[in-house]
Amino acid sequence: MGLSLEDVTEIRPISYIRVAVLTILTVIALLAAAVGVFFGLVPALATFSVALLLVGLYHINNLFKLVRWLRTPVDEAAPLPRAFGLWDYVFADVNRRASTASRQQERLSAALERFREASQAMPNGLLFLSMSNTIEWVNRLGEQHFGLDRARDQGAPVTNIVRQPDFVRYLQGGHYEEPLVFTAGRPIGRTLMVHVVPFSDDMRLLMSEDITQGERLEAMRRDFVANVSHEMRTPLTVVSGFLETVIDGLEDLEKDDIRHYLGLASEQAGRMQRLIQDLLTLSALETGAPILHEEPVDVGTLLGEIQQEAQVVSGGRHTISLDCSTHARLLGNNKELYSAFVNLAINAVRYTPAGGHIRLTWRQRGAVVEYMVEDDGIGIAPEHIPRLTERFYRVDRGRSRETGGTGLGLAIVKHVLSRHQGDLLIDSEPGRGSRFTACFPVRRLVA
Ligand code: ADP
Repeated sequence: MGLSLEDVTEIRPISYIRVAVLTILTVIALLAAAVGVFFGLVPALATFSVALLLVGLYHINNLFKLVRWLRTPVDEAAPLPRAFGLWDYVFADVNRRASTASRQQERLSAALERFREASQAMPNGLLFLSMSNTIEWVNRLGEQHFGLDRARDQGAPVTNIVRQPDFVRYLQGGHYEEPLVFTAGRPIGRTLMVHVVPFSDDMRLLMSEDITQGERLEAMRRDFVANVSHEMRTPLTVVSGFLETVIDGLEDLEKDDIRHYLGLASEQAGRMQRLIQDLLTLSALETGAPILHEEPVDVGTLLGEIQQEAQVVSGGRHTISLDCSTHARLLGNNKELYSAFVNLAINAVRYTPAGGHIRLTWRQRGAVVEYMVEDDGIGIAPEHIPRLTERFYRVDRGRSRETGGTGLGLAIVKHVLSRHQGDLLIDSEPGRGSRFTACFPVRRLVA
């Protein structure tokens, strides 16, 4: 039986070799001397030579064993050759080195694995690049950000795959003090922020962050500020224009003219007030805070009030009917539901020419309960329907303004409904009329 890798752990001092060699040589010399005393010089020399030859053969044999063992693959963990004396010492030493190296390798592999796992868990894309920009390693997010495949693209220059001129110029320019923001080509439309950090002598770490969502929000914020400023500026210009006219013509203008101008200015001030009110409502809804006060709302009574308000706005120009087929109450916030429901009803009045019909319905249908506003007004072309609930989106800006619209009504409706687990469905046909339906799950009904 040979020694296994674990068996031989004994470490003997280096002087052991010297002692062993001296002992062997002394034994051979003493043996040759004894032979010389008894048989003469020639037999003594012959004994000395034969003994040396045998010792040489023993060493050569062990040397072969060692070489053969060293050549077996490391992962086969072949047992050490059997030996004694000096060679036992040598094999033990070789084995110790081998197991130390193997333990070090295991530690290194474990450290590398931990590093890989940490890199994969990073919230950024990571690319390790050589000085010639070839991809040495890339984590999962890096693959997603740049449309790479590690198995396929490892070793390829990243600039052959990500060809955006800005990116290529940045990488080759070598000035990495500022990050680069660019729109990646694949996958399309992703905005990435890229940092490059050179490390060791010939490597670079490229970190990428997907800022598409942030950019989109920033663009929305800019649009919103621009829209609000625009919406405020128009009535303000009108108000100041009328006021200037009145001030300049205070001496010459008739009282009726002054009343007329001030009336128009007050109308515009009212418009600004409505806009600010809608903006405040929307911002309160958008904070995402839960509904403050929920109660069973008697939708039948609520719709009665809404019908009356719609009639006031219509001024008798429309026929407005109410059909309430369920008396179950809806769990929600009375004020919020009123503002959403009245918005839909008033819109129907505003976008239906005189003589038109408007019907308000509250009914339960299977698993949903719905509030429906139908009109036979101007209707909406299909391409506008998906965008109607965006803030300030209007099909006909002029008509919306003429009828006192702020462009925020349906955005408010959508928010209120989603706070009540509801959905808004819109069916419409230009020239024939529209149907706006607010659907709620029946679990919000209180018997
Ligand atoms: P606005 O204050 O302009 O009415 P809304 O958000 O309430 O803003 O509505 C957005 C747009 O949807 C309106 O400008 C209008 O073009 C369209 N719209 C809403 N309700 C109706 C309806 N019942 N019939 C036709 N168009 C409508």
